[in-house]
Amino acid sequence: MILVTGGAGYIASHTCIELLQAGYEVLAIDNLSNASEESLNRVQQITGETLRFIKGDVRDAAVMKDIFEQHPIDAVIHFAGLKAVGESCAMPLEYYDNNLNSTLVLAQAMQAAKCKNLVFSSSATVYGDPSKLPLTEDMPLSATNPYGRSKLIIEQMLGDLPAADVLNKTAPWSIALLRYFNPVGAHPSGMIGEDPNDTPNNLMPFITQTAIGRRQQLAIFGNDYNTHDGTGVRDYIHVVDLAKGHLKAVEKLLSSEGIKGVQAYNLGTGNGISVLDMVKAFSKVNHVDVPYEIVPRRAGDVAACYADVSRAKKELNWQATQQLEDMVKDSWHWQSLNPKGYKS
Ligand code: NAD
Ligand code: UDP
Repeated sequence: MILVTGGAGYIASHTCIELLQAGYEVLAIDNLSNASEESLNRVQQITGETLRFIKGDVRDAAVMKDIFEQHPIDAVIHFAGLKAVGESCAMPLEYYDNNLNSTLVLAQAMQAAKCKNLVFSSSATVYGDPSKLPLTEDMPLSATNPYGRSKLIIEQMLGDLPAADVLNKTAPWSIALLRYFNPVGAHPSGMIGEDPNDTPNNLMPFITQTAIGRRQQLAIFGNDYNTHDGTGVRDYIHVVDLAKGHLKAVEKLLSSEGIKGVQAYNLGTGNGISVLDMVKAFSKVNHVDVPYEIVPRRAGDVAACYADVSRAKKELNWQATQQLEDMVKDSWHWQSLNPKGYKS
């Protein structure tokens, strides 16, 4: 059985589909602070499989202890956390509390239960402002905001565990740090997708909400970067590809070869797409207009960020397959079937 923390969220719900379709039993825990249980109802409709759901907080040590005592958990995928960069600057203590304490409590419960297979949701943000592209996993790490710092601290904290196993002669941890680039898109059924609670911070939900008429126009943050058209360049990855990457990571952890200690993997496509490329592709594929204006740069944004994905290909036997056209088509399919997200 796989424990999925933050299981009702955007990336986790897509990952639950892949896990269920691959025959795993799934136990999801979520405090529903940024999600609706409806996403998991729909996961069950899509797959025709059932999963168990616990409404609870990963920081609650008693709840986590109970979970490991009552269920045969083979591995954990830890998605639960807060994720908005701007909000983290205004509420750093909430971010450190949620992201660090959830991981600490989870790891303690796992260690007590002798379940030491963990996949952690990290982020390309741990590379800070990159000096060289594409980004490989061994490049220097840094943080430019509290959200990124929380991910970096967690990576470092988990990085201390294998040495303790050697000292204590305990069974080894096996940990995959998955550094996501920019997840977009939705399940092709259009039944689950990204449903931000407030005004979206990320580009794609802002585009889809503008196209559906919930926002007047998209603000493009700067067209004076040193990129092919002046707008910011990112490595967008279809969420279904990303979800399949989690399945591969779990399979690797549970294989006889396993992962020795802690290993980081970039999950992206390796392609750099600009904001204008994205807007144009969205309009062309979906035949829908996205009004936009150019506004000044957003504080903290880097010009360009994209991955070298060769380690995940070699060691996890995983590679993104979906194209920009699939990403914009599926994002729009979800938004147009669910104009108000899960409240539709
Ligand atoms: P999301 O907000 O949809 O999912 C996170 C889920 O965790 C939500 O359902 C929320 O209700 C739940 N949660 C938060 N704190 C919790 C707690 N203490 N206990 C139980 N549940 C809790 O976000 P997402 O985009 O699916 O992101 C999932 C993970 O991936 C996060 O850790 C995020 O930092 C990381 N990540 C996301 C992106 C991205 O662009 N979406 C990029 C890189 C990394
Ligand atoms: N962006 C934009 N307008 C928006 C949101 C984002 O121009 O309303 C740009 C942003 O400056 C960056 C890219 O889109 O170049 C991706 O931003 P996002 O917040 O989605 O992800 P990030 O890479 O910052 O994590």
